[in-house]
Amino acid sequence: MDDDILSLKKQLLEKDAEIAALKNKLEQIQKDNSLLMDLQDKVSQLTPLKYTALTNDDIMRYSRQLLLPELGVKGQISLLNTSVLVVGCGGLGCPLALYLAAAGIGRLGLLDYDEVELSNLHRQVLHTERTQAFAFLTPCAFMYDIVADCSDNVPTRYLVNDACVLSGKPLVSASALRMEGQLTVYNYNGGPCYRCLYPVPPPPDTVTNCSDGGVLGVVVGVMGCLQALEVLKIASRQKSSFGQQLLMFDAQDGRFRCIKLRAKQASCVVCGDMPSVTELQDYESFCGSAATDKCRRLNLLSAEQRVSVQEYKSIVDCGTTHLLLDVRPKVEVDICHLPVSINIPLASLEDQKTDHINFLKEKISELKSQMNSESQVPVFVVCKLGNDSQKAVLVLEKMSGTELEHITVKDITGGLMAWANKIDPSFPKY
Ligand SMILES: [Zn+2]
Repeated sequence: MDDDILSLKKQLLEKDAEIAALKNKLEQIQKDNSLLMDLQDKVSQLTPLKYTALTNDDIMRYSRQLLLPELGVKGQISLLNTSVLVVGCGGLGCPLALYLAAAGIGRLGLLDYDEVELSNLHRQVLHTERTQAFAFLTPCAFMYDIVADCSDNVPTRYLVNDACVLSGKPLVSASALRMEGQLTVYNYNGGPCYRCLYPVPPPPDTVTNCSDGGVLGVVVGVMGCLQALEVLKIASRQKSSFGQQLLMFDAQDGRFRCIKLRAKQASCVVCGDMPSVTELQDYESFCGSAATDKCRRLNLLSAEQRVSVQEYKSIVDCGTTHLLLDVRPKVEVDICHLPVSINIPLASLEDQKTDHINFLKEKISELKSQMNSESQVPVFVVCKLGNDSQKAVLVLEKMSGTELEHITVKDITGGLMAWANKIDPSFPKY
């Protein structure tokens, strides 16, 4: 009897959980549906562009490029009849859109989900401080003739690639990081698509973005202008030079070089002979990363291995003897740092650079001599956002007991940007 009651109760609980899950699912579907309807309301169908001749105003405005035999009146009319979707209105998209509009591209679609931040303005030259927080969305690659990928993350690159292959549109793609840039045209004239070259997304933590790696505004600008040039060539029925070619720009040496890419692959899942990708998918889960260039938050340590910035502040306020180790590259330490910190970049710790390790040992024994003989020297590790500092904690823990003695190591969660946000508003953010 008791067993029956127990078993019935268990079944009831299971059914309750099932009902709750179904209700959740229903709610999500209803929410997605209403979002979709909302979006469809906002996207008006585009009228076809139908220019057949140039007006006197057109002739005056475009006269200098009309004189080019490569373009001429025919080419100009083609530009006026071409629509281009610009995916990403950042450092590449801004100069690209300006030049395409100026050259007479008939319709530009600007697609960006992101907000403009102060640290973007050195390269995103269409925006000013007044347009920060500008964000707009005009989807539908299918309604445009050419797509320019000016995005900054891997999931968007796969998404845009698949949308272009599925709708048969050429994809002019560029990227820039640090002092280097790249440009190529995918899905063009029988050439490869992005997936032909990169069938598998790179592991998320091997991808460096502009906020990690830095970038010079003019380098992105050069790439955006080259991208605009290829769009204009395709739009005016000239041939792009980069169908199966990759242009590489080394801004440091002031050199361009071109390498041949591998051909379109019969085995490609989207443009190959037997495609398995026939509609757009969830690219964030495919790539294991978010469709943004914002920094990822790593979670490598347990709660006991970390302190919050508030906890660290009270350690400082109590005057507790400790070592603050800043593991950012020197170039970032020069921008700003906490006065008591010592700097050993993560890379030097990982490579066990002798002079750096000796310097660390020296500092630790200095502090140790100020403390009673039993206790360990607390080492707090900090970086910009609290990712590299976690890696450094793991490196130091491995070394403790062998190379380094008498220490306890903890990470400061959220790094110096959390310090700036929560403790000291006068500390610079970058
Ligand atoms: Zn392909």
